[in-house]
Amino acid sequence: MASNELAQPEVPNFIALLRSFPGQARLALGTRGVLWATFAGIIGVICCAVAFADIALSLHRSDVDPERRKAREVLALDGASRLLMRGILANSAATPGAGAARVADEPWRNFTESLSALCRDFAVPPQTRLAGACAAQQDFIDRVGPEIQAFDTHRRPMDATVLRELLQIRDDITELSLSTTRATDHMVGRLVDDYGEALLVLTLSTTGFVCAGLVLILLVGRTSMDYHAQWRRAADAAQQAGASRDMLSEVVEALPAGIVVYDSTEHLILCNSVARTLTPALRQPDAIGQTYSALAHESARRLEAAGMGPQPVQEWIERFRTRTTERTRQSDDGRWFDWSEKGTAGGLTVGLRVDVTDLKQHEFALEKARAEQESVRARYQSLVDSMVDVAYTLDVETGQFTFVNAAVADMFSMPPERFVGKHFLELIAPDSIERVRQQTTRKYDPSDQGTFARFSMIAAGGAVRNVEVRARRWVDEQGRIVSTGVIRDVDERVQLERRLDSEMNRLRSIVESNGALIVLVDHALNVEMVNSGFTALTGITATDAVGRPLQEILPCPLDPARTKRSRFAVRKRDASGRERLISITATPATDAGGAVSNIMLLGVDDTERREAEQALYNAERFATVGEMASTMAHEISQPLQVINIACASALDELALASENGGQPDPAFLQGKLDRIAQQVEQASRIIGDLRAFVRGTSSDTPEPFDANEAVRRAIDLTDHGLGEAGMTLQERLDAELPTVLGDAGHLAQVLVNLINNARDAGGGVISIATGTVQENDRTFVRIAVEDSGPGIASDILPRLFTSFVTTKPSGKGTGLGLRICRRILEEMGGRITAANRAEGGARFEILLPSQ
Ligand code: ADP
Repeated sequence: MASNELAQPEVPNFIALLRSFPGQARLALGTRGVLWATFAGIIGVICCAVAFADIALSLHRSDVDPERRKAREVLALDGASRLLMRGILANSAATPGAGAARVADEPWRNFTESLSALCRDFAVPPQTRLAGACAAQQDFIDRVGPEIQAFDTHRRPMDATVLRELLQIRDDITELSLSTTRATDHMVGRLVDDYGEALLVLTLSTTGFVCAGLVLILLVGRTSMDYHAQWRRAADAAQQAGASRDMLSEVVEALPAGIVVYDSTEHLILCNSVARTLTPALRQPDAIGQTYSALAHESARRLEAAGMGPQPVQEWIERFRTRTTERTRQSDDGRWFDWSEKGTAGGLTVGLRVDVTDLKQHEFALEKARAEQESVRARYQSLVDSMVDVAYTLDVETGQFTFVNAAVADMFSMPPERFVGKHFLELIAPDSIERVRQQTTRKYDPSDQGTFARFSMIAAGGAVRNVEVRARRWVDEQGRIVSTGVIRDVDERVQLERRLDSEMNRLRSIVESNGALIVLVDHALNVEMVNSGFTALTGITATDAVGRPLQEILPCPLDPARTKRSRFAVRKRDASGRERLISITATPATDAGGAVSNIMLLGVDDTERREAEQALYNAERFATVGEMASTMAHEISQPLQVINIACASALDELALASENGGQPDPAFLQGKLDRIAQQVEQASRIIGDLRAFVRGTSSDTPEPFDANEAVRRAIDLTDHGLGEAGMTLQERLDAELPTVLGDAGHLAQVLVNLINNARDAGGGVISIATGTVQENDRTFVRIAVEDSGPGIASDILPRLFTSFVTTKPSGKGTGLGLRICRRILEEMGGRITAANRAEGGARFEILLPSQ
């Protein structure tokens, strides 16, 4: 197709040629040269125009043609008149009939014709005969013509008047001829002047043209030199371009992207190997030189053959031609490429195919992530909407809500879309508005931990709701300060709290009005509350007590891990320094997980009651002592008898030795003295035990002791009584028993009480055993007293350890024994329980915390 076009001769196009002139001129002269040439040309043209105008003006001014015609006609008339007059004169002098020329014919005719022409064309000087002849031309001819005819024919002399007139006319004509000659001379002179001027102007304009020509020649010369230099540079550049092209080919080949270059007629002129791997059609050996369209069709055919489905060839071609779009396409090996075409200034189309497979895979991963994000967002949205609290976002600058969840419908009886856009202050109740405004007008601080506030808001219909708002400020992607928060409807809670407050006040008044001592401690045994009863009893005010460890203000054997109610008694000096005995009931409160959260200690001043009880108990104890007196006497008489016998044996030995004059046996005496000392110790131990029992008191300071020791002491005190009652006592004592804190005499007193009760109940065998048990990670010493009697009456079992519970006849029992036993043990931090054994009989169990 291109060769056909080349074969056709170009039709010269004149207009195109003209149009090309400015470009060619600019090429040859340069822009400045064109300006110079144009300027010189304009100057030359102006000079020529001026010269020609001058000449034309001169010609116009000279009125040459009429003047010349007038001169011609005047000369013609002058000649005709001269001939006429010469003929008249010649004929006048000639003899008649001598064959003289006729005047009346040609000379007269010429004269009249010339006269008519002159008179017709020009004005002759007035006041002359000639003017008169012109004015009355016909009259003149009619008058003179016959005279001349007659002169010719008859040779009659001319009438003098006519001749004179003719002579005058002849003079006038001569005069006119002279004046015409002068005028012509004058005109010629002036023309000479004008032509001189014109010549000068022409000379100038010619000089201008010559100068312009010279300038043009200079410019063309310079431009051609420039072109020559440029041509040299172009030659060098072409050489370099060759090298560059080779380099470019190498670079293009080395590029990781596919490059294709098409010329302005869409024929492929270059492609690299990456492009060949991407576009199947480019793999053809003759691909270079083919059009994009042909290659696109070939590629589509090959891709379809490879099973990649119908290809949008037409779309490719359109995109190729628009050269603006960039699209991503997949090659037949599954990789992704960014396909783009770009036009160059030289009319080439450069196609770039960049491998974006990694990017595409990222894109796919991103899309997947985005979809997941969207589903997460939707889940969060439904989660947020399922919240009972109102979640919101607010533009701090405008004060308007930008987002709220579905909970507003319930809390404010308003659909979310009506809520969004409202100013938050519109929804604050008047009593809270100032407080909210103060909080919200603070400056933004990135380290701000947010706010928590409780105030009142107005729901639709004007209902006021108590709410709690937690909010935090942050800066969003657009740089706006936004506040995000949660509004919780605490109206019911507030009402409840108010009710609780009033209940608490009521309770407090009850607690305060109660004479009892009340202390509330937390799970770590730190005091949370004390009442006025506590202050009255201990002299410690609530301010001093709250927050301090309980042990500092009220030392007591309280186990913080124990979840059951416990009782104990503590001794405490009151404000006046008097020792008070306070019986305390500790009631633990547990949380949902079953752990102790608080313990309420309710104490009563038991001093007076205990003293009364003690008095009664002492009375009973003394009765017991009385009872035991015979036992004691027996107990002491036995060692005394042994001592007595030992003394008698020792004395006999001494007497025998004296009689025999020998020495007493020292080993025998030593044995007797040892036995006496042993028996004295036995007797004094019994007396000591009795004394301790009778005394009933001990030192205030608890000391560690061995519980087995107290058990043995109790057995010593009760042994004889049991024997008399025909009962036996079995003991199983744990030799490895840890010590306990308290008073051994008190514990012995408790055990004597238990053994005597068992004895009183009847039954053959009493057993007493010691050991250890673990409870709440603590070790307790356990002392169990069991008997084989009838057991404890079921009606008194639940209240066995309260005062005055007895089944014994009046005068025998007071019902205080077990009550006092419990108090003694509680003072030692222990406890006592009673139960009937399955096999019959009662079991009393004592637990004392080990040291
Ligand atoms: P008292 O001995 O003055 O009655 P206590 O407080 O010591 O007072 O005893 C209260 C009651 O408990 C007794 O009256 C008796 O009924 C019952 N009791 C105590 N120990 C036993 C026991 N081992 N077997 C049966 N009943 C007992």
